[in-house]
Amino acid sequence: MYDVIIIGGGIVGALIARELSFYNLSLLLLEKESDVAMGATKANSAIVHAGYDPIPDTLKAKTNVEGNKLYKNLCEELGVPFKRIGAFVLAFNEEELKILMELKERGIKNGVPELYILKREEILSREPNINKDVKYALFAPTSGITNPFLLTINAIENAIENGLSIKLNEEVIDIKKEESVYQVITDKNIYLTKYIINCAGINSDKIIKMLDPDYPFEITPRKGEYLVLDKKAKDFVKSTIFHVPTKKGKGVLITPTVEGNILIGPNAEEIQEKEDKSTTLEGLYEVKEKARKYCENIPFHLVINTFAGIRASSTHKDFFVEEIPEFKNILHIAGIDSPGITSAPSLAKMALNWLMEKEKITPKKNIKKTINKISFKDLSDEEKERLIKEDPRWGHIICRCEHVSEMEIISAIHSNLPATTLEAIRKRTRAGMGRCQGAFCGYHIMKILSEELNLPLTKITFKGNKSYMVKMENKARWKYVKRS
Ligand SMILES: Cc1cc2nc3c(=O)[nH]c(=O)nc-3n(C[C@H](O)[C@H](O)[C@H](O)COP(=O)(O)OP(=O)(O)OC[C@H]3O[C@@H](n4cnc5c(N)ncnc54)[C@H](O)[C@@H]3O)c2cc1C
Repeated sequence: MYDVIIIGGGIVGALIARELSFYNLSLLLLEKESDVAMGATKANSAIVHAGYDPIPDTLKAKTNVEGNKLYKNLCEELGVPFKRIGAFVLAFNEEELKILMELKERGIKNGVPELYILKREEILSREPNINKDVKYALFAPTSGITNPFLLTINAIENAIENGLSIKLNEEVIDIKKEESVYQVITDKNIYLTKYIINCAGINSDKIIKMLDPDYPFEITPRKGEYLVLDKKAKDFVKSTIFHVPTKKGKGVLITPTVEGNILIGPNAEEIQEKEDKSTTLEGLYEVKEKARKYCENIPFHLVINTFAGIRASSTHKDFFVEEIPEFKNILHIAGIDSPGITSAPSLAKMALNWLMEKEKITPKKNIKKTINKISFKDLSDEEKERLIKEDPRWGHIICRCEHVSEMEIISAIHSNLPATTLEAIRKRTRAGMGRCQGAFCGYHIMKILSEELNLPLTKITFKGNKSYMVKMENKARWKYVKRS
């Protein structure tokens, strides 16, 4: 029997698992996909918002501002990039200036430390590619950028080191109450637990309805589509740029990523099919047109990828962090749309406090809080030489766009949260995420996966399930995909 079962391995489930792993608790995390960070955490703008946008006195406002403050330390501990690059919200007329003033007022109420209204000259001196008709901007220097899926992976790896158990490819299909204990039923097993934390993203309403089918809470999914520009466009903007928000949300932004690309998006489209992550011509066109209105000469010829993410918006409007009557000891952390990446560290503390109010829990004696992984391209020449002498596979560069070595891929495959798919390798190492998007290294990574996992190439998938990459092996061709 477990003390706590966490449903969902997105950023919220991951940071809760890590926070609880510092205590003497038996913990299990259940994730329906072949890897963690497969939902909204994989596909978003990756902004650690300052906190001027949420309505004051909401959970969104409180956790956004708290979460933002926790990010620097969290990312340092988990070896994840985080940069406070600041955010601009642009206004092109006096009407829009009123919205900026409202946002500033909201930010002050929410406790955002620094907010400035800037005028045209200062805006253009900092960001020369902004449309010259700009009149004002709200500038929030505490806004930042990070890598949410790496943060999730590293948090889970850290939690596993501290004793977390995890089951991938197991979908929770029902929950039953047996006196003071819950049965969590997956498509493969039944587990017993005292407490449950529901962090199932767009399916968080399904989990609630497993307990009470009539409970008035629905996820109303909203898709957002993006364009990714090559690193050649690196300095196009230095901060995150928004136009004033609308009723539909914060709107299309242009931002650098921590890896040095430029990200443009998202639009906001209400959808019926929760898992519809397809990009559309219309959606991407809308993103382009909206971005063009406030930035000039956007180098769209440098687009290397497009993707879409699904926001777990809900009928509740604010984040829903509650137990429901008659089903005590189950905390639902549901309807976590934007700013969920920013708020996740604060939501994790809330989950810990919830548990502490119910149960006397004691801290573990020998916990580990840090993760250090080797990024070969960031090492000095001396360090690179030393590693290559130890094992020549450090010097064998598999992904030339992102400079990822064979040994980094092998380490990801043999970590305590093994990468078993092409996408899992991408998320951990960035191999296949550069300009060629895996056109050159894809074969090599499949070969490494096949050899290290002792699987035929026909069983290697892009992202689990049945997303196979090849139908049959063409021996003549694979002969040339050598590992030195
Ligand atoms: C387009 C877009 C842009 C965004 N931009 C930002 C931003 O810039 N800044 C910001 O702060 N936030 C942003 N967000 C919001 C943020 O991405 C989410 O709030 C956050 O990722 C939610 O994390 P989560 O762990 O709750 O959900 P998810 O990441 O969706 O994780 C839920 C997990 O539960 C699993 N699961 C579901 N059902 C089951 C089941 N029955 N059994 C087992 N496992 C299950 C899923 O597979 C998934 O892995 C954005 C979101 C989107 C979509």
